[in-house]
Amino acid sequence: MIMANINRAMLRLGQAPSVIRETFEYGNTRAQQIGRENVFDFSLGNPSVPAPERVTDTLRKLLADCPPVALHGYTSAPGDLPTRRAVAEDLCRRFSANLTEANIYMTCGAAASLTCTLHALVQPGDEIVVPAPFFPEYRVFAEAAGAVLVPVPPVPGSFQIDVPALRRHLSEKTKAVIVNSPNNPTGVVYTREVLTELSDALSAFSAQRGSPVYLLSDEPYRELVYDGAEVPYLPALYPATIVCYSYSKSLSLPGERIGYVAVPTSVPDWQEIFAAVCGAGRALGFVCAPSLMQKMIAACTDAACDMATYRLNRDLLYGALTDCGFSCVHPDGAFYLFVRAPGEDAAAFCQKARQFELLLVPSDSFGCPGYVRLAYCVSTDMIRRSLPAFRQLAESYGLI
Ligand code: PLP
Repeated sequence: MIMANINRAMLRLGQAPSVIRETFEYGNTRAQQIGRENVFDFSLGNPSVPAPERVTDTLRKLLADCPPVALHGYTSAPGDLPTRRAVAEDLCRRFSANLTEANIYMTCGAAASLTCTLHALVQPGDEIVVPAPFFPEYRVFAEAAGAVLVPVPPVPGSFQIDVPALRRHLSEKTKAVIVNSPNNPTGVVYTREVLTELSDALSAFSAQRGSPVYLLSDEPYRELVYDGAEVPYLPALYPATIVCYSYSKSLSLPGERIGYVAVPTSVPDWQEIFAAVCGAGRALGFVCAPSLMQKMIAACTDAACDMATYRLNRDLLYGALTDCGFSCVHPDGAFYLFVRAPGEDAAAFCQKARQFELLLVPSDSFGCPGYVRLAYCVSTDMIRRSLPAFRQLAESYGLI
């Protein structure tokens, strides 16, 4: 066979879909074979809670009242001024931040926020350090920007950042550290104490090296917390923090592709970095985030999703799984459970689970082998119906 003379790295990515997507597609096939109601698909982080009413009302009103050319036309490349201003004001109000529209670049979700920021910062061979477990696409984003991803194992059991270990992974080549809290896949919220320790370590290292290590705070789950868990605002702890935000999960809008990058004035050379983020958006074809969504966000920066269902799901699933003898860290945020695979072989455990029509995601690509991730942003009814299957799975491993 003659091989096309094209970009091999992109071909590899296109031909090897993520394990999350592969599991999701398997679920669709299985649903056609045995009926959707008999498949318990915990693969995808697709919010099951509807977007807040204020969001849908605002969208209806915009469609009814706003002239189509203004509504659907191109906006400024970094985003509509009123939207960027509203986002900045919201962050100032909530976190006593010092931001204006000049610090905000509207993007097509967190994926675009991260790729634009990484492309803005990275030079070939730079290293991006990330506490494991982490969102698997980080590797794709970092490598596409020309960087090497350097994972750091977590503190066993708590899944908090192991700061001394992370410190040992910093090098002359470290350009940035990515943190994600509340975390996908564990649901763990990094504590203020750990984040302060991280900030101290990065400050000391940057001072000694004479150039800053940037901190990228990937925050699609910022507002998704239970029992009032605190998610510290990272730029207040570490000045060289760039925020990569998305409304995908907080407003249940993942298909609408809307988020932002915030480059605070406390980041050294922030104006150049902001300009480089704009340049990366241009180079990657991300200029002008979806216009309708930008206009909606201008009126909905403080809208909040209803956490009651996620909370119910978490309590139901965590309670049932631990009762069956499975072990998992108690999540304080997001909508994931990270369960230890009996026998430590996550792929084998996922295959076994499929025998009971339970679709779980193995943790290997999250940089932390031996676990599975369950996304519980599904219907509570599906969780209830899945519980006998989890019991059977536990029995098959002799856990009960
Ligand atoms: N970062 C993390 C930790 C995520 O879990 C996700 C999506 O699940 C993303 C980034 C990408 O988010 P978006 O859909 O807004 O691009």
